[in-house]
Amino acid sequence: MKGKVYLVGAGCGSYELLTLKAKEVLSICDCVVYDRLVDDSILQFCNKDAEFIYLGKDHANYHLQDTINETIVKYAKENKLVVRLKGGDPLVFGRGGEELDCLYNDNIPFEIIPGISSSIASSEYAGIPLTYRDISRSFHVFTAHAMDTVFDLDFKVISQLEGTLVFLMGVAKVSSIVEGLISNGRDSSTKIAVVENACRPLQRVITGTLSDILEKVKINKIKAPATIIVGDVVSFQERFSWYDKLPLIGKSILITRPEDSSNTLSNRLISLGAKCHILPMISIDNEDTKKLDLSKYSVILFCSSNGVNSFFNNIDDIRVLGNIKIGTIGKATLNTLEKYKVKADFIPKKFYVDALIEESINYTNKDDNILIITSNLSPVNTDFISKKYSRNFTRYEMYNTIKIKYDMKDVISAINKVDYITFFSPSSFESFMESIDYDTSLVENKKIVSIGPITSRKIKESNLSVYLEAKEYDSEGVINCLLGDK
Ligand code: SAH
Repeated sequence: MKGKVYLVGAGCGSYELLTLKAKEVLSICDCVVYDRLVDDSILQFCNKDAEFIYLGKDHANYHLQDTINETIVKYAKENKLVVRLKGGDPLVFGRGGEELDCLYNDNIPFEIIPGISSSIASSEYAGIPLTYRDISRSFHVFTAHAMDTVFDLDFKVISQLEGTLVFLMGVAKVSSIVEGLISNGRDSSTKIAVVENACRPLQRVITGTLSDILEKVKINKIKAPATIIVGDVVSFQERFSWYDKLPLIGKSILITRPEDSSNTLSNRLISLGAKCHILPMISIDNEDTKKLDLSKYSVILFCSSNGVNSFFNNIDDIRVLGNIKIGTIGKATLNTLEKYKVKADFIPKKFYVDALIEESINYTNKDDNILIITSNLSPVNTDFISKKYSRNFTRYEMYNTIKIKYDMKDVISAINKVDYITFFSPSSFESFMESIDYDTSLVENKKIVSIGPITSRKIKESNLSVYLEAKEYDSEGVINCLLGDK
């Protein structure tokens, strides 16, 4: 019997606040039942074969709780390893206790993995310490959402508390909170903050006093999810705010690379404060089972990281490379090669396939055989270059680049959400253009970022201008040029 449920806290707002233990169980689970406040990027850590079940509660379907309880019990009884993933901490509001009741009653084994609750994370991402020596020696967390919809917190007691007050689920109840505190003796100049969308690039922090916060919440149209923090510690926000100072805060970026590398890049960009939308325009298929005979080649040329990975998937014994010289283009390809503990003999100064081919002449003699590892979309013309250089160039399509098709309206909706669109290869740009029917007006005022000259050339051929081109033709180069764009 492996049927078991992990009741897991996803942390607040960003996937970055997930615990290592949570990441570990996600990687082995059979299914994930997750809710509305969970950052979708967390799903990248899940077992690839896991079933994803979204059961998000909002006001319209608040009674979904019964379905959630039944679902986790049902899957566990089918011997599945279930992760019940909840925003923040699983047992800070959000009815996690009721889920445990069901598991307990049905004799289903469970474990609880704590998460970073919004009650703590939102104040820290706003730069507000919940406790501070001599100013606040405790903090108290309340829900402003009463199940019977009657607002029934005991403000007589609450307003006497010395520590910081934190209210969750309270955006619609700000006026009642303010009134409850003031009418029970709190000064109307008491400091208060509202943190909307904490720990996400959209985070907004509004500070004020009990007398003016309601107005500010209305003017700024603050919406859920938000937390409300009351107490003198709010004053520290001016000095300690840090999240809104991250270098890419306020920048929204579309990433069109294949899914795995998109995730890696977006993780980096998010940690710098950017908002990322992932829309992979190509995927890589390297399930090539035909074994390559390398004995007749004196040089192998790698033009991309994908080519390197596909190549090493294909060979059984690394010693076959013993007498073969290796050339690569670009730092990213080189780094991938070095992961396999293989050094390149030459890397051309210019990161073009043509330059790589030209350089390979210095490492070979007339009529030597040179193998170029490419994808199905590579434009390399071996007849032409073999004649030009009197070597036998062979092109081996080691992997297939597959253009991903989307509904045009989904692509347009993604475009409309971003300021920057990044392209990492001519093929992803081509696939992108196909997906918008070559209608350049849709991207007219977007900032197009290109990984390097080859991709830029392709972009310019479509009469679009390249707003930024990376100096180093890899993802770090792209990140650096985004950082440099003030
Ligand atoms: N278990 C969760 C709380 C669930 S109740 C936790 O520990 O965080 C839902 C409430 O949490 C929301 O109404 C809001 O008050 C708060 N919340 C959750 N995510 C938030 C976020 N990213 N920013 C601000 N508040 C958030």
